[in-house]
Amino acid sequence: MHPVTGSTRSTAIAVVIAALAAVSGAARAQSPAQTTKFDLVIHGGQVVDGTGAPPRRADVGITKGRVEAIGKIPQGAGADSIDATGLIVAPGFIDVHTHADEIADHPAAGNFVRMGVTTIVAGNCGSSALDIGKALEAVAQAGAAVNFSTLIGHNTVRRAVMGTADRTPTISELNRMKGLVWKGLTDGAVGFSTGLQYVPGTYSKTFELMELVRVVGNAGGVYASHMRNEGTALEESISETIRLGELTDSRVQISHLKVDSPSRWGASAKALALIDEARARGVTVEADQYAYTAASSTLGIRFPAWALEGGQPQITARLNDAATWAKIKTEMAALLAERGLKDLSFAVVASYRADPSLNGLSMKQVAAKLQGADAADAQFEAARTMMLAGGASMVYHFMSDDDVQRIMKHPHVGFASDASVLTFGEGAPHPRGYGNNARVLGEYVRVRKVIPLEEAVRKMTSLPADQFRFTSRGRLAPGKAADIVVFDAATVGDAATFEKPHAYARGIPHVLVNGVFVVRDGSQTSAKPGVALASNPLAGR
Ligand SMILES: [Zn+2]
Repeated sequence: MHPVTGSTRSTAIAVVIAALAAVSGAARAQSPAQTTKFDLVIHGGQVVDGTGAPPRRADVGITKGRVEAIGKIPQGAGADSIDATGLIVAPGFIDVHTHADEIADHPAAGNFVRMGVTTIVAGNCGSSALDIGKALEAVAQAGAAVNFSTLIGHNTVRRAVMGTADRTPTISELNRMKGLVWKGLTDGAVGFSTGLQYVPGTYSKTFELMELVRVVGNAGGVYASHMRNEGTALEESISETIRLGELTDSRVQISHLKVDSPSRWGASAKALALIDEARARGVTVEADQYAYTAASSTLGIRFPAWALEGGQPQITARLNDAATWAKIKTEMAALLAERGLKDLSFAVVASYRADPSLNGLSMKQVAAKLQGADAADAQFEAARTMMLAGGASMVYHFMSDDDVQRIMKHPHVGFASDASVLTFGEGAPHPRGYGNNARVLGEYVRVRKVIPLEEAVRKMTSLPADQFRFTSRGRLAPGKAADIVVFDAATVGDAATFEKPHAYARGIPHVLVNGVFVVRDGSQTSAKPGVALASNPLAGR
C-alpha cells in the first residue's frame, strides 16, 4: 500500500491512507505482556494464524487497531476482553471476488461480516466503477464495516469508450481504454478484471486484452479474469488467461474456477494441471472458488452474444423479429446441448425486477406460469419474455461436487463469494453471499473432511493477501492489522440455502475489523471501522 498522490484526492482519503501506512509498518518489538495495557485481549482461544500452521492455544492482545502480542497475556491486561476458550481465533477472511461495488450505499455489509469477511475486493468480472478514485473516496467518507478495495473492469472501460460494439477497437479507442486502465490503477485499483462472457467484453479478442493487461503488468497489479468459457472451452480459456499474464508479467487470478457443463464434468483435473504447468514456468497464477455446485449470473448469458449487441431497443427488435428469434432460439438450444443440457430447467430466477413473483422459480416453473406449458420450447419463450422486460439474474445448477472438491484441494485456489452486498429478505440470491466461508468450514472441513481447518483458513487469509498485496492483513501476527474472526469449529456453518437464502452464517460469535468489533456475541454492531485500501502499484517504481 502506498499513498496515492493524485491532485483529486480529498483529505478524507489521505487520512485513511496515512492510517494504512501506519498499520502496514514493520512489526514493533513486543513489549513484555505483564506491563502492557491492551485495548482488547482475546483470551484462551486456539490461534490459527493464516499461514497453514496448526492451531495453538494463545491469547491475542490488540492495541490501536493492530495485533500487539500473541502468547500468554494475564487476565486484566486489556481494557476490554473476551473469553475465546474452545474457539478458533483466525485472521479475518479476505474475499477477493465480490460485486460489492455499492458498499458505500450499504456500509453494514451484514452478509459479509457475519460470515467472517473483513476485507473485500470489488470490481470483478469486468464490471467496476469507472472513476476508481471517487469510488474509494465514497467508501472512505461513508465508512464501511469491512475494508474495501477494487479492480478496474474491462467491460466498464470498453463500454465507456465504444459502447457495446461487437468489433475490434480502433487505435484511438484502444489508447483511450489503456488510459482509463492506467488511471484506474494510479487512482488506487488493485488490478484489472475481465468478464469475457458478458457484453461488451465478450466481443474482445486476445490481442485487445494483451494491450490492456500489459498496463496492469507494468503497474504490478493483478489480472483477474472471469474467462470466456468455464465448460466446453475451459482449457482454451485457462490457456488464454495464463498467456495474458505470462506475456505481460502480471499476477493472474482465475475467478470462480469451476466446470459449468455436465458434458465436461471431471475437466477440473486438466484445468488444475494447466495452472500447475504455468506455475512451474514461473507464472504467478492462482484461482478462487465458491463452495457450491450452482453458479449465479445473468439470464442474457444463455443467449448468443451477437443477439445482445447494442442496447435494449436493439435486443427487443431482434427478439420481436420472428426469423431472428427463431435463429436465436436454435443457437440457445445448441449452446445448451454442447454443455450437456437439454433445456433451461437447471436455471432458477434469482431476481426479476419486472415480476418479482417469479423469484425462486425454475425456468420450468416460470414457463408453466407464463406459457401454460413447461417443455424446452416454452422455457425458451419464457426466457424471451423476460429478456424483453430487461432480463434477470439467475442461479444455475450445473456443476459437480467432485469438481468442486478437486478444485478445493488445490493449494493455489482460495475462497471467494462472488456476492454483492445483500439486503436481507430481498430477492432470491445465491446463498454464497451469506454462507460461502462458513460452508467451507462447516460442510467441507468438519463434515466431509476435504481439507484441514488450518488449510481452509490459509486459503481465506494469507493466500489472497499475498496475491493482492494486502501486506498488513491475512496473517495473525504482531504488527498486523487486527482483522480477526473468532469462530466455533464445532458449530460453524452456512444456514442460507437456495430455497431460503436470507440466513446468516452460524458459529461465528466475534468479528473485528481494525481492532473494532463489527460482530460481538453473534450480533452485528453499528461500527464501520473498515478502510478504503487504495493501492498504487506504480508508486516506488
Ligand atoms: Zn464472474
